[in-house]
Amino acid sequence: MKKSRLKGLRLNGLRLIKPRITVALSLAVIISLLLIWLLMTIFEGEKPEAHLEPVPEYLSKGITFNVSASDLKMGLRNIHVSVRQDGLVIPILRRDLPYVGLFNKRGVHKLEEEFTVDPKELNMIQGQASLIIEIHDFSKRRGGDGNLLLLEHKMVVDTLPPSITATSRGHNITIGGSGLIVYRPSSDTRESGVLVNDLFSPGVPFSRDPQTGLYICYFALPYNSKKDTTLYLWARDRADNETKRVFSCYIRQKRFRREKIKVSDRFLDHVIPRFSPDLFEPDKTKVEKYLLINRRLREENHALLIDLCQSPTEEKLWDGPWMRMKNAATMAIFGEQRTYYYKGKAIDETVHLGVDLASLARAPVQAGNTGRVVFAQDLGIYGLTVVLDHGQGLYTIYSHLSKIDVNVGQLVTKGDNIGITGQTGLATGDHLHFGFMVHGVFVNPIEWWDLHWIKDNIYRKLNVSR
Ligand SMILES: [Zn+2]
Repeated sequence: MKKSRLKGLRLNGLRLIKPRITVALSLAVIISLLLIWLLMTIFEGEKPEAHLEPVPEYLSKGITFNVSASDLKMGLRNIHVSVRQDGLVIPILRRDLPYVGLFNKRGVHKLEEEFTVDPKELNMIQGQASLIIEIHDFSKRRGGDGNLLLLEHKMVVDTLPPSITATSRGHNITIGGSGLIVYRPSSDTRESGVLVNDLFSPGVPFSRDPQTGLYICYFALPYNSKKDTTLYLWARDRADNETKRVFSCYIRQKRFRREKIKVSDRFLDHVIPRFSPDLFEPDKTKVEKYLLINRRLREENHALLIDLCQSPTEEKLWDGPWMRMKNAATMAIFGEQRTYYYKGKAIDETVHLGVDLASLARAPVQAGNTGRVVFAQDLGIYGLTVVLDHGQGLYTIYSHLSKIDVNVGQLVTKGDNIGITGQTGLATGDHLHFGFMVHGVFVNPIEWWDLHWIKDNIYRKLNVSR
């Protein structure tokens, strides 16, 4: 208190001037600060941000893009999308946004825009093209134009479908049988093969002569196909362009045998306990349980087998005809249409998709051809089962075994013992159920046991196309 009074007296002459200077100085500082803040605000130097989706490598058809832009400071002024190709600029989208409120506080700070680029509609040519996105904000920078964000996405316009041509001739296939085609896809092809109905069988490079660019594809004509089924060669290129081309194929009709199967109480009592009681809801009758096994479990087992065939070995592991189980009699053939009768009433129908072979009980089972074990365990209606991958989409299945002598991943040679026959699963009597699959479709194994058939339908094509 005392001290300040003394100080006041001493500075008496300055007492009136000093507050004015202080106020003026403070004002000047405040004004300068305000000015700096104002300049920094309206001349802010932060670019807008943006994200583009998708970012395709190739443009083969109309693609809808989505760009999400943001500018959290002065807000978005405009967005301009164009496509540039060979010095030509094609405008795609232009949006100018309003300036609203003090410092554009109520203007647009976040924005999502969708636009479509269709190379055919825009008359774009094949080759390099750039998608250019320019976004300005409301900053006063760059002569008042605002900060610019420039996004460039380079793509290759490719609207030409790949080509695919059969080089093998004389394609004959029997309903329920197998076929092979040799073809040449254009070099930009990423995926190719044969389409039968909606079933796709992928082709693999013709390994004997990879330099030629030739491919081979094993395919199946399912047992329930019509005689007028059309078969196609199909290809998809790197830009997702697709080609589907009919190839000439003579389809031989095949009639399958009808069989009546009597389902007795004794059989049901014998078979049902082989399956886990967890499969059935309580209070189901024997027949209901049997139907569940014969339908739902059968379907589940088939789905698993189809799954197993999705990633075949690319190389050909097999050689020559498949070996048929030694000293075995045929008990049931492929394609048999079975109707099941219980107490005189038809209760179910199935198709037998393999060949049943029987010799003595607990007889050794040999690998039909060289291949890799891809499945070796219990498989529902099939009981203990081994599946072999012979390469390029060909598989064999050995079912109702009482013992398995191989492990998944193991390479087995034609004639190696892989297990012992039995009557596991839905089998009546000790036998081997032998099945042959081409890319997951069951076919008649009889063709693959026959050297003449293999020579005429496989070897001839492989040699002719070399
Ligand atoms: Zn069978």
